[in-house]
Amino acid sequence: MKKMSFFALAFLAGGLLAFGQKIYWGDAVPSNWNGSWPSELRTVPEKTDYVRTTSSYELLEFIDRLKWKSDKIHVLNMYTSPLGRVCPVLVLADPRVTSPDEASKSGKTVVYLQGNIHPYEAEAKEALLMLTREILLGRMTHLLERLIVIVCPSFNMDGNDAWSLNDGTPHILSGGKNALGFNLNRDAVKLETLEVNALYRTVFNRWDPILMYDGHAMERVQHGYAIAYATCSVPAAHPGPRTYVWDKLFPELREKTRKNFGLETFTHCGIDDRWPPTLWSHDAAIWTNEAKFVAGAYGLRNRMSILAETPIHLSFRRKIYAQYALIAGILEYAHRHGREMQEICRNADREVVDAVLAKAERGELKNFTAGRYESRGRIDILAYREKNEPGYIPGTSVRARIPASLLGPPVLVRDVEDMTKTVGTAEATVPRGYLIPADLDFVADKLRTHNVKVEVLAELVKAAGEEFVVDRLVKTRRGGFNMTSLEGGFARSQVKEFPAGTFRVDMAQPLANLAFYCLEPQAADGFVGWSLLDGYLKSAGDDKRSVVYPIFKYFKIIE
Ligand SMILES: [Zn+2]
Repeated sequence: MKKMSFFALAFLAGGLLAFGQKIYWGDAVPSNWNGSWPSELRTVPEKTDYVRTTSSYELLEFIDRLKWKSDKIHVLNMYTSPLGRVCPVLVLADPRVTSPDEASKSGKTVVYLQGNIHPYEAEAKEALLMLTREILLGRMTHLLERLIVIVCPSFNMDGNDAWSLNDGTPHILSGGKNALGFNLNRDAVKLETLEVNALYRTVFNRWDPILMYDGHAMERVQHGYAIAYATCSVPAAHPGPRTYVWDKLFPELREKTRKNFGLETFTHCGIDDRWPPTLWSHDAAIWTNEAKFVAGAYGLRNRMSILAETPIHLSFRRKIYAQYALIAGILEYAHRHGREMQEICRNADREVVDAVLAKAERGELKNFTAGRYESRGRIDILAYREKNEPGYIPGTSVRARIPASLLGPPVLVRDVEDMTKTVGTAEATVPRGYLIPADLDFVADKLRTHNVKVEVLAELVKAAGEEFVVDRLVKTRRGGFNMTSLEGGFARSQVKEFPAGTFRVDMAQPLANLAFYCLEPQAADGFVGWSLLDGYLKSAGDDKRSVVYPIFKYFKIIE
C-alpha cells in the first residue's frame, strides 16, 4: 500500500472528501467555532485555553447561570452519589416541560445525551455544556421546535472529581470509575451500580427517549477519523431501530459533519495489526454484540442508541470540537427526521408484541443469545501507518508529544473488510412467558429496573413449558470480568405447578427482547452471564450433579 499525499487523497477518494472541502486533521479546529460568549457563560475549558475540565462544583455553577437566563430548562436530580454529589439532568424544551407526561403529550421527539460515564473522557461533558448553551441562548434554539433534549453532562459525578495528573490536556484529569470502583459502562445488564439504576429509573423508563447518545474517547487509535460512532449490535434486539441508525442516520451524519464542521468521521472500529490493514472491525475497538454497554442494552428496548469515541491522544480542544460537531449533527438529524424515528421505534414495539402473540405459544418464535461480526464487504478507510507512542514535549517532563505524521492527513487504505455486520450465532426459543420463583426477588427487581413488566401470581398456576438442566457452570475471563456460561440443555413439555407469589413475565410486551436476553440461561451476557445466579446454582449443588435452572419458560398457562 503506497502512502498518498493529502492532495492525491482529495482527488482520489471520490465521495470520501468533497473537492474543495476543508478538512481539519489532527489537533486542528476552525477558529471561533464556539461563538463569542460573555465570561459568565464561558465553560471552564474555554476560560483556560482548554487545559482544565469542569469540576462538579463548576458544573452546578454553569447550570445555575443557564437557569437564570432561560425559561426553557427543567433540572432533575438523577441520583445522589455514594459520596453525596447530586447528578443534574437538564430537560431542555420550549415551552418548558417538567414531567414525562407533558413531554409525551407534546409529540416532540425526546433525545437523551450523556457525557462522562468515563470521566477521564471529559470531552462530551464539555461539548454538552456548550451545546446546551447554544440550544437555550444561541444558534440552535430552533431544535426545540421539534425536540425535547435531555442532557446529563456528567453521568459519573464521583468519578468526575477523582483527580489525577495527566500528560497532555486537560492537565488534571478525572477518574474512570465510580466511587465504589465500578465501570458504569459495563453495568447495563447486571445493574449493580446506583448510577445506572438511577439512569434507568429516572430517565429511560420515565422519559422514554427515542435516541440516546453516550460520549467517549478511545485509546490506541490508528484510524484517521475525528470521532467514530457505533450503535447497538446485540443480535437479539429488534433490527428496525439499529438498522435505521446504521443505514440512514450514520451516512447522513457523516456527510453533514464533513460539510458543516470539516471533520472526517466513520464507524467505531479498529484495524488489524499489520500494514496495510486488511480489517476494519468492531472487535478491534472493543465494541461488542453483547449488551453490557449502555448503548448496547438500550437497543434491546426497541430504541436508537449511539456511542461515539474521539481518539484519546489528541488535544482536549480538538476532542471537544469533535464531540460538539457529532452531537450537533445528531440533533439536527433528529430535528429533521424525528417523526420517522418515532415511527420506527413504535413499529418495533408493536412487532415484538405481535410476534410473541402469533408464535410463542407454539414454540415457533426464536431469538439470538449470542453473535459475532461478519463482513459487509470491502470499503476504503483512513488510517495512519504509525502507532501513537507519545514522547516528551521538549523542555518538559510531559509525555504528550505526538509524532507530526499523526497530526497530518491520514492515508487512504483501499479494500478493507468491513467487519461490522452483526449476525446471530446461537439461538433459543422465545417462550410465551417466564416464571421466576418468589425467592429470586432480586431478579424481578432488576427486570423492573430494566422496565420489564413483572407480575406476581395471585394464585397457584399450572403451566406447560421447558426447563433448562444445567450440567456444568463454566467461568471464563472476558472483558475483565469472570463471566458465567451454562452447559446443559432444555427438557421440553413439562407441566409444573407454580405457587402464588411466583413472579411472571408475560412476553407479550414491548421489552420482550430485553427480558429474553436477561433471563435466557445461555444468553452471552444476560443475568447468568453476569454471574447473578451463580450463588443460587452453587447452593443447588451444580458442581456435584445436574441442577435445574430456576427460571421456567412456559408456552401455555393451563389453569
Ligand atoms: Zn469510555
